[in-house]
Amino acid sequence: MSNLDRQAELAVCGGRGFVVAEPVRELLSPRHVRLGESTEVRRLLPNLGRRMVGAWAFVDHYGPDDIADEPGMQVPPHPHMGLQTVSWLHEGEVLHRDSTGSLQTIRPRELGLMTSGRAISHSEESPRPHARLLHGAQLWVALPDAHRHVEPHFQHHADLPTLTAPGLTATVILGSLDGAASPGTTYTPIVGADLALTAGTETGLPLDPDFEYAVLTMSGEVHVDGVPLLPGSMLYLGCGRTTLPLRASSDAGLMLLGGEPFEEEIVMWWNFIGRSHEDIVEAREDWEKASDRFGEVDGYPGDRLPAPALPNARIAPRKNPARG
Ligand code: MN
Repeated sequence: MSNLDRQAELAVCGGRGFVVAEPVRELLSPRHVRLGESTEVRRLLPNLGRRMVGAWAFVDHYGPDDIADEPGMQVPPHPHMGLQTVSWLHEGEVLHRDSTGSLQTIRPRELGLMTSGRAISHSEESPRPHARLLHGAQLWVALPDAHRHVEPHFQHHADLPTLTAPGLTATVILGSLDGAASPGTTYTPIVGADLALTAGTETGLPLDPDFEYAVLTMSGEVHVDGVPLLPGSMLYLGCGRTTLPLRASSDAGLMLLGGEPFEEEIVMWWNFIGRSHEDIVEAREDWEKASDRFGEVDGYPGDRLPAPALPNARIAPRKNPARG
């Protein structure tokens, strides 16, 4: 999905100064954002006061929406830079096209992982016909400076490793969890996992104390470290944890997001992650003049998405308080 927000804001993210070194329980409220005509998403990251969790820099949760009599997701070709996109579905399907020639239907609990590197463009649409319900999350992972100019590529993995405990199935989407590793390419120490809990389950999930974590509730009612969470909310957990207590009062679906705190300061605007104002201006210009840089998306039934206007303010990466 794209950031279709017409008032795209520049955000400065990353840096140790935002990381909480010890376990915390910080509830993040979603911001309701309209995407196009009919879709509304709940944006959990970036959030007021919490911009990143590890290298995870953007989290939208959408649905479940009844799209039986509607076009559903229709996100026209748009560019990305400096990040990976993760498409994760609980219901429905999304047809992905990109400028490297990918044409892939992504189904529930399959990983669609697009690495933009220096530049890519893609579109996402509900195929026709499509399932009645659409429910999923769209996430971005910031690429570290050493890898943010890699060649763009797309990976689709339908068969991901799982860990099971009584009442819990954890599917490893990205990175590794308790020794099980996703085949998706990563560029920083990170984890993304889908947690399916059955009603009445009380269990603990092993965590890496060097990572910071957050949990997104997608469905059901669950207590995470004692905090009751409803669908569409996110709990930031800080670092220093070796286990995460989970208790499900109903069948529940969660996403665990974590990683080594992302040390580099980044500048994020619209669908781009860069390191400076100039990076962003250049990417926007390249997209607007349809330069070769972002390539072409074949077959999408509609026009490409124009970039919003840049804000007047010039943004420099924030000084990292931890480094003074
Ligand atoms: Mn996108």
